[in-house]
Amino acid sequence: MNIQAANKRIRLIMDLRMQGITDTNVLSAIERVPRDYFVPPYAQDQAWENTALPIGLGQTISQPFVVAFMTQALELTDRDKVLEIGTGCGYQAAVLSRLVRRVYTIERYKDLLRMAEKRFDYLKLRNITAIAADGMKGWPKIHGIDQAPFDKIIVTAAAREKPPEALINQIRVGGSMIIPVGGVGEQMLKLYKRESDEAYSVRDMLPVRFVPLLPDVSDDKNDVS
Ligand code: SAH
Repeated sequence: MNIQAANKRIRLIMDLRMQGITDTNVLSAIERVPRDYFVPPYAQDQAWENTALPIGLGQTISQPFVVAFMTQALELTDRDKVLEIGTGCGYQAAVLSRLVRRVYTIERYKDLLRMAEKRFDYLKLRNITAIAADGMKGWPKIHGIDQAPFDKIIVTAAAREKPPEALINQIRVGGSMIIPVGGVGEQMLKLYKRESDEAYSVRDMLPVRFVPLLPDVSDDKNDVS
């Protein structure tokens, strides 16, 4: 890495600290995952800036602050099994993979999923399992094997009114889920904690702007939200 690139990384980490990211594990995961590898060639210059960037098919890679904020809010441990909805370019999954035991991630666009999987391979992130499916239905049983419930769930696309029931049901009792909820221009990042089989608490964390959660799987390049 050249000096300029190293400086950009350091500047981003300092920026995140100033914005209230105090979890040193989260900061070091962000420092170590090469964000430039997850953004398209024409956005390379901005890869280490604290901004959201386009990743194709009308989707975006979240601002590093939002990635760090959501990751920190989940209070992850290295024993956690985590489900992510909305793989996108794979950046958030890569950050998680440095912090937890296992990451399961679902993307509805097959093309995005394929590109993300190539990045995981290249970066030798072997604790990520990625599938193309409708994440609103939660992680499916595959060959009769159920991975749910999960210690933590992170949803990186916005639910219109409330989180899908299937996702709430896949949070382990004692576990939590972070998810943006709301329509365009009025989304709130919410932290759900599952207290018991029936009861959960909800906390408003941060106003955000995410692309919407959409149903079904897509391999249609014109199906851009
Ligand atoms: N976490 C990603 C950013 C996600 S952008 C990253 O680090 O790059 C939101 C993603 O959610 C988009 O790629 C979008 O296609 C996907 N998405 C929307 N609805 C979905 C659904 N029902 N199931 C799975 N993925 C979905």
